[in-house]
Amino acid sequence: MALYSQRVQQIGTENAFKIGPYINEVAATGRKVIRCNLGEPDFPLPAHIREEVKRQLDADMTHYVDPQGILPLREAIAAEMGARRGLTVTPDRVVVFPGGKPPIGFSQEIYCDPGDEVIYPSPGFPIYESFTNYLGLRPVPLHLDEQKGFAFNGDDLAPLITPRTKLIIVNFPSNPTGGVATHAQLESIAEVILAKAPADARIYADEIYENILFDGNRHFSIASLPGMAARTIIASGASKSYSWTGGRVGWAVLPTAEEALMFKTLNINYFSCISAYNQLGAKLAIESPESQPVMERMVRAFQERRDHVVDALNSIDGIRCQMPKGAFYVFPNIAGLCERLGAIELYERLPADVKPRTSPSTLVQMFLLFRYGVATLDRRAFGVIGSEGRHFLRISVATALDDLKEGMERIRAASQDRDGLGAFVREGRRLS
Ligand code: PMP
Repeated sequence: MALYSQRVQQIGTENAFKIGPYINEVAATGRKVIRCNLGEPDFPLPAHIREEVKRQLDADMTHYVDPQGILPLREAIAAEMGARRGLTVTPDRVVVFPGGKPPIGFSQEIYCDPGDEVIYPSPGFPIYESFTNYLGLRPVPLHLDEQKGFAFNGDDLAPLITPRTKLIIVNFPSNPTGGVATHAQLESIAEVILAKAPADARIYADEIYENILFDGNRHFSIASLPGMAARTIIASGASKSYSWTGGRVGWAVLPTAEEALMFKTLNINYFSCISAYNQLGAKLAIESPESQPVMERMVRAFQERRDHVVDALNSIDGIRCQMPKGAFYVFPNIAGLCERLGAIELYERLPADVKPRTSPSTLVQMFLLFRYGVATLDRRAFGVIGSEGRHFLRISVATALDDLKEGMERIRAASQDRDGLGAFVREGRRLS
């Protein structure tokens, strides 16, 4: 009998965490690594939130609390999420989780049986695809096109919907591309869903980057369109908006209170509750007028870095980079670079047992890290199914501008080092 279940052998991972030890290995040689792999704002937790968490710790808010999330926080979330989206949200439809991640897998567990279909963006946050495999669901990637700014419309979605569709995941602003759908694109997506998706299919709107939009744009939720709120799970959280990834406070608004209770039941089964002092910190973050200016400063910094990085990348032969509209990632097409560096040929010649675990852009990613000290993530890190022949990297701009400038120069130097990549791949140590 095998030690591990078949199910767990299917689960994926999030490479942003997985490459941590590789980065440490390079850093241990004394080289400064430019960390463009991180999915977290590089700003401190705003002082007013920090002070509130400390105050709540001192007030002994350190015990078990409501597994659905404490009522004062759910009230704050209901008011804020509802007001911004033009919806009436009641606290009994809100559930709090340890971060924005758990409701992704929980939604798949709660709404889907084996064989049911989950439509998700690819490239997309890796957990969408990872969980479908883990639970024996049918993954249906919706491939995002660079020419459409990594957004999509109803015509792209329509052919993927079948009577087995149970969950349709949308994520704007998007990780890893920074893509944001236009109002018209969202309307056409909603129209197709209402016309074609089974009545009990749910839309999972991952809106964790809702406060990080550039060029003065404001977030618009698909749940705000007529007929959509009754079918949409709206997920968000404190990690990105308040630069608080370690607080582990995320939340979702469910279409009904009954559905919220299903999530609460999973919370009870998995972790009981989230620390009350952090929940009270999140309540203050949502309600305090001090939060908005802090977020605006952060977004301005991301936008300045985005502008620099996109320009720098587009000036490198073989790289083509779209201008992201939100989040803090850029997602350059490196097909020309893979060609120039010989990565595609090198990949083709790899042993048959290595090839399924890597790709030309993975070879470039590893080469950049181990030979040039720049940590990025490859296309495969954001959905493996159908990633063949698509050559991209994700570069996070949640890193200081001076470091990003240095990182872009290192990438430029690497782009001219065909012999270096050949030698690195022949050495065969770090290919996936
Ligand atoms: N959804 C998306 C699209 C994300 O990028 C992330 C974090 N990288 C999450 C969810 C999870 O966020 P958290 O850290 O709050 O669990």
